[in-house]
Amino acid sequence: AAKHAGGQTYRFFSSDMKGAFLSKVQMETDLREAVKDRNQFELYYQPVIRVADNSVSSCEALIRWNHPTKGLVSPIDFIKTAEDSGLIIPLGDWVIQRACQDLKKWEEEQKVKLDITINISPCQIQQPGFVRNIKETVDSFEISPDRIQLEITENGLMENTSDSINTLQKLKDYGFSIAIDDFGTGYSSLSYLKQFPVHCLKIDKSFVRDLPGDRADRAIVSSTIKLGKDLGLFTVAEGVETQEAYEYLRSISCPYVQGYLFSKPIPESEFIQLVKERKSKAEN
Ligand code: C2E
Ligand code: MG
Ligand code: MG
Ligand code: MG
Repeated sequence: AAKHAGGQTYRFFSSDMKGAFLSKVQMETDLREAVKDRNQFELYYQPVIRVADNSVSSCEALIRWNHPTKGLVSPIDFIKTAEDSGLIIPLGDWVIQRACQDLKKWEEEQKVKLDITINISPCQIQQPGFVRNIKETVDSFEISPDRIQLEITENGLMENTSDSINTLQKLKDYGFSIAIDDFGTGYSSLSYLKQFPVHCLKIDKSFVRDLPGDRADRAIVSSTIKLGKDLGLFTVAEGVETQEAYEYLRSISCPYVQGYLFSKPIPESEFIQLVKERKSKAEN
């Protein structure tokens, strides 16, 4: 297929990408174009599994950029540029909008009611009017905010701490859930768990990948699950790739898991099929 598009089209994934754009300036230029022509972006979804009954409890929305000549670009390669250029603001709005639209569509067309988790950049949190904006979007789709969780990385929360706490508190008061993403990888102290109004800890995949073999990972993950439980928070282990890791997580009562073992992030239409198939299997 690449050949038909002029012979110079290649598909690049993640780590190849830095070479694919000649410069950061080039990427920014292309990103700016893409933000105008939103057709280049797509949301993929990955299920979050409830360990107790193996059901799909919710899903995470993950953005993909379909570059007209460079193919699928991973967010790892362009979110930073989007943040540095300010383009993350319109892009982030688009993500929220599309996630709400998909949620509503699943409900109305597929009769599937799911919760969703959306990645939010610290730049968005710091944007004046963010709370009002996201409220308006969610209201316009007539979605109850308690079905939406906003995911922010640990380091992201540590920028402008008092403003962040303020904003998160407003979001919480309105009914949104807040998750700390990549938990354990940041440079923050545990005391912020007392200060931030959070509902969920997402254990970073770097601690999960080598379970159950790695002793340090076992200690970190089991302590985090205990901490989450004692604080009354949900805990999700990210990056579950093997049955062995899953069995271990189940043995230590990890409530939620996410990872390639269950599904990679997939396009919206495939995702909703997967959810329906799992549901009908569970019912039979
Ligand atoms: P994240 O929020 O921590 O998302 C999890 C990442 O881990 C995703 O990478 C997902 O595809 C990947 N993953 C899931 N399961 C497994 C597994 O079993 N093994 C491995 N090795 N990886 C797994 P992805 O989709 O490339 O996204 C990377 C990061 O980009 C995200 O990390 C998030 O920080 C950021 N991102 C993605 N979408 C958005 C968005 O809409 N807005 C913002 N601001 N950031 C986004
Ligand atoms: Mg995230
Ligand atoms: Mg995540
Ligand atoms: Mg993460």
